[in-house]
Amino acid sequence: MEVGKRSAMEHSTKAGKPMKMKVQFVDDEVAKASDALPLPLYLTNAVFLSLFFSVVYFLLTSWREKIRTNTPLHIVSLGEIVALLAFVASFIYLLGFFGIDFVQSLILQPSNDIWAADDDEEEIILKDDARKVPCGQALDFSIPKMAPIASPKAAPEVFDEKVMIETPPPTEEDEEIIKAVVAGTIPSYSLESKLGDCKRAASIRREALQRITGKSLEGLPLEGFDYESILGQCCEMPVGYITIPVGIAGPLMLDGKEFSVPMATTEGCLVASTNRGCKAINLSGGASSVLLKDGMTRAPVVRFNSVKRAAELKFFMEDPANYETISMVFNKSSRFGRLQTVRCAVAGKNLYMRFCCSTGDAMGMNMVSKGVQNVLDFLQNDFPDMDVIGISGNYCSDKKPAAVNWIEGRGKSVVCEAVIKGDIVTKVLKTNVAALVELNMLKNLTGSAIAGALGGFNAHASNIVSAVYLATGQDPAQNIESSHCITMMEAINDGKDLHVSVTMPSIEVGTVGGGTQLASQSACLNLLGVKGANREAPGSNARQLASVVAGSVLAGELSLMSAIAAGQLVKSHMKYNRSNKDVTTVASA
Ligand code: ADP
Repeated sequence: MEVGKRSAMEHSTKAGKPMKMKVQFVDDEVAKASDALPLPLYLTNAVFLSLFFSVVYFLLTSWREKIRTNTPLHIVSLGEIVALLAFVASFIYLLGFFGIDFVQSLILQPSNDIWAADDDEEEIILKDDARKVPCGQALDFSIPKMAPIASPKAAPEVFDEKVMIETPPPTEEDEEIIKAVVAGTIPSYSLESKLGDCKRAASIRREALQRITGKSLEGLPLEGFDYESILGQCCEMPVGYITIPVGIAGPLMLDGKEFSVPMATTEGCLVASTNRGCKAINLSGGASSVLLKDGMTRAPVVRFNSVKRAAELKFFMEDPANYETISMVFNKSSRFGRLQTVRCAVAGKNLYMRFCCSTGDAMGMNMVSKGVQNVLDFLQNDFPDMDVIGISGNYCSDKKPAAVNWIEGRGKSVVCEAVIKGDIVTKVLKTNVAALVELNMLKNLTGSAIAGALGGFNAHASNIVSAVYLATGQDPAQNIESSHCITMMEAINDGKDLHVSVTMPSIEVGTVGGGTQLASQSACLNLLGVKGANREAPGSNARQLASVVAGSVLAGELSLMSAIAAGQLVKSHMKYNRSNKDVTTVASA
């Protein structure tokens, strides 16, 4: 029962210097019996215990004396009054110290088993991309019972937002710089290089911005972030940072290993839904994944004076006799980048060359671009009339929906499957195998075909992809092609069980470079056991992360599809009057 207060949290900066954050962390704000004296806890206890037994002894002795001398008990001396008061005080202290905790420990025992709660009685929010009702109205999953907070005061105040966002007033020197930025005599972008202090630069820029726009940035935190870590890599001209909550889905049993999947999202229900999918997968023995391909692409566009010349370069690039030379030139860019293929497409006099290479644990855009630049420089010798229009000609294709990624793949191409037992479909997913298979066929396959979908043959793959990407420092814009996914469902074992799979041809992830090295994102990668470069087997961390993304999508697909299937069932049951069940009850069950 330790009472501890930490008024400042130590936060390591890049330079290794501890930085005092002005965040107030208070372990326990509740007044306790042991606060009665400003002494160490054991001394306070000793004082009150001695006091209690001394006054009890004193009162019993004096009452025995009164009984012996026939003195009425209600006639009390001053000493007895003091003893009575001391008795009451020490009794209250001891009751407060030992009694309340003992009673609490008996009646408020939290369950440690995440799967322990009864599904039929507990409700939790399910994610449904078409959900029109607020969280809580389409609930369908169990959560473990949590110990209620003993008293309103007992909730620890771990985050004082006001303190967090409060920045000290600028010093005189900073005030001068702010005025110069506002006047335009110092460019805002040059602050980092001029000051050599990224935090100070961000603080000055922020203040100048507020004065220029007349708009407050209160609520956007400035303190508590390592601005050095983003310099020249992640974000220019910072004025603060956005906070996104991170939830955990899982454990997800994938290829015999358990993963707790971090998901950064502000979409209520998403984590809970994915968590339910993980539960169904786990209880059915887990999922397994296969990586079909691993290669990042970049496709420059070059122009010639004639179609003939463009075609000549295409034939040159595709001639196996030239591959060794081209790959040698390409591979000089990095010890991890290894050319795999070059696929060419002609459009009139223009040639698009789609280079594909392995990139180790990096997502690989920089790596492949460097290799491509080497090859272009080399080609200029044999094709001096080649006009390089752009290092990227969109045949790559990065951050845009494109059939080439869907068909050829980009990044990691992963297939993930699981067999969900019929009783798990009923008990955990609250639907049945036939309903899921039918819904998948009509929604994810037929419906998407009617919509002219490009890689969108799924229920909500991008929900899971985006949340895991944000948590693990991936490029969130790549969620476009990374979310390409076809979800297949099939009844097996005489229709009793469900085979479900997700095929995702272009999962673009890395565990080094970009946002992966930032503290919070790196912590999430660490949780998955894929932080940084894998020294023994370069590339295996990134490949593992891609499998986890696919496994999590599998869980998300299962859960949302089940929620929708359950909703369909309710409607048809109501329509045909086969059930008298309350719609809301059934929708959530
Ligand atoms: P990207 O190519 O995804 O944009 P970066 O170029 O920013 O990534 O980061 C990759 C850098 O990390 C390269 O300089 C590369 O040499 C280095 N690196 C170290 N270890 C690895 C590894 N195991 N796999 C890939 N790159 C690695």
